[in-house]
Amino acid sequence: MTRPGLTGGMAYYFNTMNLLKQGLLGLYYYTSYPYRRRQNRRRAAAGRAPVMVLFYHRIADEQANDWTCGCDVFARQVRWMKRHFDLVSLAEAQRRIRDGNHRPAISITFDDGYADNCRMALPLLISQQVPCTYFVSLRHVSEGVPFEHDVARGQTIAVNTIEQLRTLASAGVEIGAHTRTHANLGALDDDAQLYDEIVTAGRELQEAVGAPVRYFAFPYGQYANLNRRAFAMAREAGYEAVCSAYGGFHFPGDDDFHLQRIHADPDLIRLKNWLTVDPRKLRVPRYECRLSLRESTCFRGATGDLREAESDPAADAAPAEVHAC
Ligand SMILES: [Zn+2]
Repeated sequence: MTRPGLTGGMAYYFNTMNLLKQGLLGLYYYTSYPYRRRQNRRRAAAGRAPVMVLFYHRIADEQANDWTCGCDVFARQVRWMKRHFDLVSLAEAQRRIRDGNHRPAISITFDDGYADNCRMALPLLISQQVPCTYFVSLRHVSEGVPFEHDVARGQTIAVNTIEQLRTLASAGVEIGAHTRTHANLGALDDDAQLYDEIVTAGRELQEAVGAPVRYFAFPYGQYANLNRRAFAMAREAGYEAVCSAYGGFHFPGDDDFHLQRIHADPDLIRLKNWLTVDPRKLRVPRYECRLSLRESTCFRGATGDLREAESDPAADAAPAEVHAC
């Protein structure tokens, strides 16, 4: 894939390096594939097949950037995934994590809310009855405000309207919350602000769309962008699950509230490498989302009352390290 915005020598260097990396990854993928296939068959037979949650942002052929995947590439990826996996809703993914899973499963999600997704990607998924969850930031979709990460690159890319979201919801797309302002919640200390971004914005989105908003996704979603108080607030407010975006698999028996998502890389070989369970990726550390007792003593939840929230004693014994992305 050519990196958008690069020209001349830089573009040549980038493309050459990218092709070289893809070639090496392809070699690794095909030589390790027999081992992965054996491992995955064993897992499936034992009811421990992986459950994976993918995230896309924008599917379009114009104004490409690092968070855009081309239409043909997306169609190819969906075709390949349909052949090799069960494509399931987040609710079904959670059920399999709780109850066991006999066939590798993928749940597709989108972040932010780009209008271009209504042209090809979402109609394709809807027509093929592939479930998907669509996370949107309330201020952007209700006021038509472009995202700062696009503006910073000199791009003005249209976001979805509330009317489009209503149509998607009525076609079976699960609409999810992605804060009010696309804030970095890892940097937010103020509980009132957190509450507004997570709970109030979610309720307003639900009212605007006219369908239940049951899932929440952290903007950016890397370790440094997560926040245990935010997880506690989302749990207390009644969200079914919260999504991060730093990678990671789920196997039956794992926590089904914090769903770790995998980036849907436009390079098919990278995507295949993740989804067939590259053993190196099994080492991705899981973010400990439960409050420690110490943290819970100063947590103000949905009501604003100072009280103890549900906590994990193990986290108190050895507080989990929060890794920078
Ligand atoms: Zn986002």
